[in-house]
Amino acid sequence: MSFKNLNLIPPLEKAIAKQGYTTPTPIQLKSIPDLLEGKDLIGIAQTGTGKTAAFVLPILQRMKETYPRITKTLVLAPTRELAAQIGESFSSYGEFLGFKHAVIFGGVSQGPQINQLSKGVDIIVATPGRLLDLMNQGKINLKDIEFFVLDEADRMLDMGFIHDIKKIILRLPQKRQSLFFSATMSKEVNELAKRLLKSPVHVEVTAQATTVEKIKQYIFFVDQDSKAKLLLNLLKQKHLTKVLIFTGMKHRANKIALFLEDNNIRADAIHGNKTQNARTKALSDFKSGRIKVLVATDIAARGIDIDDISHVINFDLPNEPESYVHRIGRTARAGEEGTSYSFCAADEKEFLKNIEKLIRMKIEVMDHEFHSETAKNAEGVPPRNNRNSRSSRFNNRSNNRRLGNRHPNRSSSYRSDSRPSRFNGRAKRFNSNDSNERSSSFNNRSERSSNDSEERPNRLNSRSRNHDSHRKPKVRSFNSRDSRKSSFRRR
Ligand code: AMP
Repeated sequence: MSFKNLNLIPPLEKAIAKQGYTTPTPIQLKSIPDLLEGKDLIGIAQTGTGKTAAFVLPILQRMKETYPRITKTLVLAPTRELAAQIGESFSSYGEFLGFKHAVIFGGVSQGPQINQLSKGVDIIVATPGRLLDLMNQGKINLKDIEFFVLDEADRMLDMGFIHDIKKIILRLPQKRQSLFFSATMSKEVNELAKRLLKSPVHVEVTAQATTVEKIKQYIFFVDQDSKAKLLLNLLKQKHLTKVLIFTGMKHRANKIALFLEDNNIRADAIHGNKTQNARTKALSDFKSGRIKVLVATDIAARGIDIDDISHVINFDLPNEPESYVHRIGRTARAGEEGTSYSFCAADEKEFLKNIEKLIRMKIEVMDHEFHSETAKNAEGVPPRNNRNSRSSRFNNRSNNRRLGNRHPNRSSSYRSDSRPSRFNGRAKRFNSNDSNERSSSFNNRSERSSNDSEERPNRLNSRSRNHDSHRKPKVRSFNSRDSRKSSFRRR
């Protein structure tokens, strides 16, 4: 099936050809015909499936040009980066049409945004907080909206945007076409969808767990104290060209980036406590290749669409198994190959079990010089049946706290095994020249504080914390010199 069968108008076909797309992705095939007929839609799809084009193309086709310009399309996205990316999609797919769009988000001065709005725009892509601010100031009026898209609804709810969204929906005209996208479906997401949509078409693309099959995934059992050394050795391999590292905590992201810079690896961090300017700069430096490594927290990286990420490294395993799928999906974009490395310490074993249950496969174990049998043999807490449920994400805060405080009983569930690791695999071997490197102890879950235990950029975060927290951390102990050769091989 080609794009020809979708009956798109020539300016859109031309833009698609310019992007180099030859075949529509499954979500585009399933959604575009119904959207062109004006139907409401609920799409269960994650980023990386081509869902942005699935909604941007039919909206551009159905919009009529009017002068002076009236805002007819509103797209809500949970993060500034995602909003900016959707804005870019409107630019590229709409290149041969005459529409204008504005991207509205917080963390930057509102002046230029108001200026742009005052000249008239056909399309607004916005994060909820700033949009509501500008609506309340009378700078934006939604009374002419004909097309409304709520993207990444599950993440919106996680981030506490529900009240803002409800207020925004109340200001939309009743007669409109509404599109609703979510990577996961929970009771809460379903309720919001019902409130928004009228007789929607349901489209679900491959269950998210199966879309990761094309990514080569490896697990590294390692003690928390050795993670930094392992990371450094991995990053010295030449084929790790563009690396996105995930960590669960903002201060830890900063610390890792500083540690890498100290070891002559160009790196920066991106998370919710950074100013928008710092986030934009980190992202564009990473895109352009000025820095090789971007260290991110989940929310900041959500939906980031950067070509050619060769490797995703999970410095910490996420406590939500779905996040693992989102994280590693940042590589292997649009049919390309990619690799993910995940570090698993003893206290993360439960997360690994839940991840493997969700993706329905065992992740291959990599042998390496920092291998920890303790981590490998840790039993963790057996996964509860409902950990996988779509709504489990709403209960995970208590899990975080539990880990943060290291429940005294937890350690009893680990089998502490100090046998030396066996390096007996057939071995793909990677060597790196690691003399003179310093290693830092990123000690570890116990560093979690209540402020920093996870990226939760609700409006308070994004609005009131405009300082750049990429500062030198108070404690940075470099506790060993390591001049050993590294070796990694599959176990
Ligand atoms: P999205 O899921 O919207 O974030 O899109 C993921 C990536 O797929 C983006 O880099 C798009 O440029 C790309 N993409 C979207 N549609 C197609 C297509 N039909 N063929 C190839 N790549 C596509």
